[in-house]
Amino acid sequence: MTVEQTLAELVSIDSVSALSNAEIISYLEARCEALGFTVKRFPHLDETGAEKINLVALQITSQAEAATVELALVGHTDTVPYDPAWSEALKLTESDGKLYGRGACDTKAFIAASLTAIESIDLKKLKQTLALVFTADEEIGCLGAKCLADARPFNARYAIVGEPTSLQPMRAGKGYCLAEITVRGREAHSAYPQLGASAIFRAARLINRIEEVAKDLKSHAHASFDPPFTTLNVGLIEGGTAKNIVAGECRFTLEWRTIPGQESDYVLNLVKREVDDLQKLDPDFVCRIHAARTDESFETRADSPLVHFLEESSNKPSGTVAFGTEAPSMIALGADAVVFGPGDIRVAHRTGEFVPIDELNRCVAILRRSIEHHCF
Ligand SMILES: [Zn+2]
Repeated sequence: MTVEQTLAELVSIDSVSALSNAEIISYLEARCEALGFTVKRFPHLDETGAEKINLVALQITSQAEAATVELALVGHTDTVPYDPAWSEALKLTESDGKLYGRGACDTKAFIAASLTAIESIDLKKLKQTLALVFTADEEIGCLGAKCLADARPFNARYAIVGEPTSLQPMRAGKGYCLAEITVRGREAHSAYPQLGASAIFRAARLINRIEEVAKDLKSHAHASFDPPFTTLNVGLIEGGTAKNIVAGECRFTLEWRTIPGQESDYVLNLVKREVDDLQKLDPDFVCRIHAARTDESFETRADSPLVHFLEESSNKPSGTVAFGTEAPSMIALGADAVVFGPGDIRVAHRTGEFVPIDELNRCVAILRRSIEHHCF
């Protein structure tokens, strides 16, 4: 099968994160078994009760220890939702040297390239264990990869994590953290504000201080990133019940993206310190902080052999990504992890996402050489 045929079959299986990924996993399992891989499913139920499956397929060599994987190729099976008006979302369509379809770019192109690369290799020559790893629920927080890292199905030396990077190896990524903050006040008629305490004024004082925290974060720089420091954002705010009521509650979200080397709770602790300070000035100041998400940053060292290999193969210097990936989960399994794949992240997640055919074919060649280089 050609890489385009495989991609067409993958795109035809609806695997948006809201659905079970059982169908696409069954398809991938059959393809891996036909190649002689030993497959194992890691199923779990998501919060809606839908079955989500991570699949690990190992090509175990007699010389190598089964539990130690030399190279893992990792692709997430889920996609973001698509607009019902995009009638060809599940039908791979070619135009102008590009292949269009939901997931064509993010990240079924990488999965198709991995399968095609493996099918073109004489697997009898493998001396080190090769793994294919297919995960669930990447698009809603890398949930499948985190489950898999907890299950510790193998230790890996190197991992290529598929994501659209226009075939540039990405060796580091910022973390992603989110907190929901609720500030309480006391409702009163707005004609008599002294009878209450405005949660909105209190939240505003805290947000002013958070803006100062953001300025201080600029002094810790990591030159590989743009911008080179931890950033934060108050993206949503909501509070009060009416224009003539002193607000009893105000809620806002605080999001921050950490540079490698900074713990995910570093910002949270700075914000808590500001809350403590405000409480000293206003003993009635009540604030609840719910840490909703803490995805760690990652960094694979610039002189890792995998980074070198992919820089040479792609003819591109390694870079960094600002979006969340499954790389930290692979690092948790012992791997040097690099994010790499065909297609451009800027066209992912939108109606009409596509992968350029020449990049798809180059990815097949680079993955084939990666397997031969690491596992032969
Ligand atoms: Zn992706």
